[in-house]
Amino acid sequence: MAAELIDGKAFAAELRERVAGHVAGLRAAHGIVPGLAVVLVGEDPASEVYVRNKGRQTVEVGMASFEHKLVAETSEAALLDLVARLNGDDAVHGILVQLPLPAHIDADAVINAIDPAKDVDGFTLSNVGLLGTGQKAMVPCTPLGCLMMLKDRLGDLSGLDAVVIGRSNIVGKPMAQLLLGQSCTVTIAHSRTRDLPEVVRRADIVVAAVGRPEMVPGDWIKPGAVVIDVGINRIPAPERGEGKTRLVGDCHFESCAAVAGAITPVPGGVGPMTIACLLANTVTACCRAHGLPEPEGLTA
Ligand code: NAP
Repeated sequence: MAAELIDGKAFAAELRERVAGHVAGLRAAHGIVPGLAVVLVGEDPASEVYVRNKGRQTVEVGMASFEHKLVAETSEAALLDLVARLNGDDAVHGILVQLPLPAHIDADAVINAIDPAKDVDGFTLSNVGLLGTGQKAMVPCTPLGCLMMLKDRLGDLSGLDAVVIGRSNIVGKPMAQLLLGQSCTVTIAHSRTRDLPEVVRRADIVVAAVGRPEMVPGDWIKPGAVVIDVGINRIPAPERGEGKTRLVGDCHFESCAAVAGAITPVPGGVGPMTIACLLANTVTACCRAHGLPEPEGLTA
């Protein structure tokens, strides 16, 4: 393997430590405890795991965690009511509504009801617009984590060719905006992109956010490029026993690692950074709410 491994697990642990330091400082200097409210509607098992992990890590860094678990039959009106209460609660600095929501609820309406200042996922139209116009926003956690790792590896990104594969609102588009903000020359590729291999071969930075197991092979990668693999895909792993599965990314790890300068593994790359960035965003939101200076090292 030629590539340096970008250890997202270690990076996330460091970021959580920085977050914990800021939390302790806020408490000592101002008597403020940053608070994160997470709302889960229904019993989706994957979402339950995420919410549990978020709650645990929130408490571990010294913040207040408010979990709201609602039954799947909860009406949109009741959910909007809860969001309004959280918007008005001074102990809550960040609000996250776990997606997906049940089909009878208009997810866009609920997300956009969140006070943009507490929108630690960065999904409200207000924050999307602020990010798109290069203004101070709450930045979506997964792309924020990717940018932090890229800047740590590469320093100044200015002038580099970046290709983002995937144009979702939660990963691809905000990732592209962040890279543009760093003065990269950005291409957003998607399912209709012509000659994707040639497009990817130009890139100094490849961010793959597709959701297709091992779609990007090593011979698409420019030697020395930095590869950030956002994909989390579960595939059968009969070698581990009957019915067993394993996680892989959107990039074929072995062949990409043989050519790239650096690469994130799956698991242990982008994934752990997402919750760490959520905690970081909550502290940032808390400082902004109290008119305090931006906390250092929590944004990219
Ligand atoms: P998504 O909403 O399904 O978007 C996938 C994107 O990939 C779409 O823009 C789609 O293009 C594009 N695409 C699909 N097939 C393609 C192909 N053959 N060639 C080029 N582009 C193609 O997915 P997402 O929510 O962004 O998530 C992407 C992956 O990241 C998933 O594996 C997800 O589990 C993972 N993820 C990980 C984290 C984390 O914390 N690590 C967070 C979020 C997501 P069109 O727009 O043309 O359809």
